[in-house]
Amino acid sequence: SSEGREQYDVVVVGGGPGGSTLAALVAMRGHRVLILEKETFPRYQIGESLLPSTIHGVCRMTGVAEKLAAAGFTPKKGGTFRWGANTEPWTFSFSVSPKIAGATSHAYQVERSKFDNILLEHAVEKGAEVRFRVSVSDVLEDGERVTGVRYTDADGTEHEVHATYVVDASGNGSRLHKRVGGTREYSQFFRSLALFGYFEGGKRLPAPNSGNILSVAFESGWFWYIPLTPDLTSVGAVVRRENADKIQGDPERALLALIDECPLIKEYLSDATRVTEGQYGQLRVRKDYSYHQTTFWRPGLVLIGDAACFVDPVFSSGVHLATYSALLAARSISSSLAGIVSEEAAFTEFEARYRREYGVFYEFLMSFYDMHVDENSYFWSAKKVTRNQHTELESFVELVAGVSSSEFDLDGAESAALRMKSKSAEFVSAIDEMSADAEGNMTPLFRSSAVRQAMQEGAQVQSRAFLGEDLGPDVPMFPGGLITSDDGMLWQPGPA
Ligand code: FAD
Repeated sequence: SSEGREQYDVVVVGGGPGGSTLAALVAMRGHRVLILEKETFPRYQIGESLLPSTIHGVCRMTGVAEKLAAAGFTPKKGGTFRWGANTEPWTFSFSVSPKIAGATSHAYQVERSKFDNILLEHAVEKGAEVRFRVSVSDVLEDGERVTGVRYTDADGTEHEVHATYVVDASGNGSRLHKRVGGTREYSQFFRSLALFGYFEGGKRLPAPNSGNILSVAFESGWFWYIPLTPDLTSVGAVVRRENADKIQGDPERALLALIDECPLIKEYLSDATRVTEGQYGQLRVRKDYSYHQTTFWRPGLVLIGDAACFVDPVFSSGVHLATYSALLAARSISSSLAGIVSEEAAFTEFEARYRREYGVFYEFLMSFYDMHVDENSYFWSAKKVTRNQHTELESFVELVAGVSSSEFDLDGAESAALRMKSKSAEFVSAIDEMSADAEGNMTPLFRSSAVRQAMQEGAQVQSRAFLGEDLGPDVPMFPGGLITSDDGMLWQPGPA
């Protein structure tokens, strides 16, 4: 073209949380990064309930955490569930125990238009360039290697831009994911559909849980009820595939009928009105959203976030997986560009760690749904959660969030390091205690050794984001695997 050949170190397709996080991290290493985004920001997105690991882990590494803290999002201390035959809602908190609850034992409920915009503006502040209203249609190739992308701008003009690495962060509707090879495999287990909208004037859980996500099972599936602001609530019904007909036809009538089936949500919405204007004015449907690509990269192209994989929304793992995979991929790109490790080793490491994190959530969610099975009904519908399982589940959820959240006191690095170390030890022993009963039999949630290992490694990886070398050396995940640099931005060869 008349502009001449455009060349970047990294082109990122999609400016959601995955794309912005990756762009910020790679730009912070001094590389030239271009984000290509189809929409103009701010734009609507679903996925409003976050985990502490995103806020206090990855967002702290990019430096956007303070901006998020100043944005006035609803603090989320945990989740409140009304599942199974037990009519009493139960609550889990992100703080592992009251003793060590601290400044970082919370996440946020976010309006994604606002959250995603803050992350994208931050990436630009860190040096990334962004173009809006440009739709990427395909990759450019030179033999095995991807060397750039082709995109169409708002005027309908086609352009090409070259890059050493192309990152597909374009979400579940990605048009590029097939180009890594492999296939997108849809989960046979998580086959649900979601119908969701927004209400003003919905009730709140009593303090201190008023910012919690409320998750309520009912005959056809479950509801999320997310307090986005004091007045605005995100409400969604997730129904099992066999009830798909319940969300056919007029969506308004369908949602009201589902709310009628669920007394607790009905009660919470008794004084509320549905928002009918602006970004929250329409009812939306999503289906077939649990899948994974069988390959996550090829030379010059890497998938992160929903472009790579997604699992059922019940524990709010989507944005966590998007930002965590962005961190892993950023390390691989920066290390490879710096010539510290081979491209093959860097991206093998990315894929191994990303798959494990995904696997942990996948297995955990399977176990969660398993617990609600009884003779008469499939999935979550009827079984009363026993006292024992209740405790175990609560502990596990706390651990999943807590491992990632890496709570520590932000006032002093030294005391924080000490606290973190003792906490890591606490995690390890808590994991040991939970993983077997008195006779040494594995409890159901820990059937998988991958889950146990990931819990331990997860604590290490996330703590490193805050404490660097204070934590002691990282350990390779597999023989010959790489370890994380002290500042968490790169991979380096493991011990010989
Ligand atoms: P996205 O947020 O999808 O961003 C992708 C970006 O790429 C978009 O801005 C898009 O405009 C752009 N783009 C797309 N195609 C192109 C193209 N061709 N060219 C240029 N740009 C393009 N997650 C949570 O953490 N908490 C929740 O409570 C939660 N609830 C959910 C409920 C449901 C029903 C569903 C389906 C998902 C939920 N999620 C939740 C998941 C969450 O929505 C996603 O995991 C998250 O948004 C993924 O982020 P991302 O950066 O990978 O992609």
